[in-house]
Amino acid sequence: MKIKPFTFNPFQENTFIISDNTKECIIIDPGCYEEFEKEELEKYIIENNLNPVILINTHCHIDHILGNQFISERWGLELHMHENDLNLLKSSGEIANLYGFKNYKKSPNPSKFLKDKDNVYFGESQLEVLFTPGHSPGHISLFSKKESFVISGDVIFQNSIGRTDLPGGDFEVLIESIQNKLLIMDETTNIYCGHGPKTTIGYEKLNNPFLK
Ligand SMILES: [Zn+2]
Ligand SMILES: [Zn+2]
Repeated sequence: MKIKPFTFNPFQENTFIISDNTKECIIIDPGCYEEFEKEELEKYIIENNLNPVILINTHCHIDHILGNQFISERWGLELHMHENDLNLLKSSGEIANLYGFKNYKKSPNPSKFLKDKDNVYFGESQLEVLFTPGHSPGHISLFSKKESFVISGDVIFQNSIGRTDLPGGDFEVLIESIQNKLLIMDETTNIYCGHGPKTTIGYEKLNNPFLK
């Protein structure tokens, strides 16, 4: 699999396109908001002859869903996410207003709810869904044991963890998710975070001040 990161919107949110040799791809957390951001993402898809097949949200905070409507309409994609973040998705219009995203176009509703241990399939590839709540009630991560990486949304960052002071956040639950779902992975596993640089399980075990 090939993982292409983009950093979009004032929250500097990381959007990922994951593709494989078949050219099918999935789009995770499209935070593209400005026209030039949408164009950047579209250009990558066109130049690489990719065929997007699923739109996935790790969770429904506004910075991760700003481009949902664009993506879903442009490539006719259905949204897959965890059911417990449905309230966040439903209130996204008001939240967008609150943060001044005047041009936010409301995300489509999900066609499928993902839950722990589900698999997401595209091309010849497969990703395992891990339920990792705490930063939001319906947060999921996407894991490939075979290719040794996890897309972790806002669960963990390099030397930090997701905030838990937003509605539905819970510090204890977040720490549990990290301990029980992420830190059990091989130490060489790459972590692609929702904000900031990529890291590894081994690095965070050694250095993350929230996990000591
Ligand atoms: Zn978030
Ligand atoms: Zn975020």
